[in-house]
Amino acid sequence: MNTDTTPPDFWSHVDVAGGPDACWPWMLRRHVRGYGRLSYKGFRAYAHVVAFVSSGGVLTPDRPWVLHSCDNPCCCNPRHLRAGTPKDNADDREKRCRSKKRARSDFSLMVKRSGTSTPYFGVSARGKRFRAYFNAGRNQVFIGTFDTAIEAAHARDAAVMIEYGGKMALNFPVPK
Ligand SMILES: [Zn+2]
Repeated sequence: MNTDTTPPDFWSHVDVAGGPDACWPWMLRRHVRGYGRLSYKGFRAYAHVVAFVSSGGVLTPDRPWVLHSCDNPCCCNPRHLRAGTPKDNADDREKRCRSKKRARSDFSLMVKRSGTSTPYFGVSARGKRFRAYFNAGRNQVFIGTFDTAIEAAHARDAAVMIEYGGKMALNFPVPK
């Protein structure tokens, strides 16, 4: 991942009015969990990850996660972002006493998708139908094509529950 994946107008969508130490919220589309989202050149990405990488941050296989020190998912201020491990993320979360229900990863590498992204995990739109899939390592596992995004999102949830137990974020978390 490099700056080729940063849209030229990226920073114009970040609200930096608060000054260098404030949170810089992403002003366009948000993910259901609060992360800024964008699509560019066929890639779908989280705004904070683009902000991190385009300001010189480096993600490596042993530190593939972009973590927020401010716990503000839409924040794109590189001073509040750092690379870390899944364990760092879990530790941060514990420190901040996040609820289990909101637990999820800050992890995001850009993945080439087919079709247009939707607000749901593992669902992309293709023509008038919706494609459900999940990622297993480097592979994308195709589940099926559905008439509505919600059906596809439920199918994707069911598939990852079977494949990963409760370990992956769900579109429709089951209350414990
Ligand atoms: Zn922040």
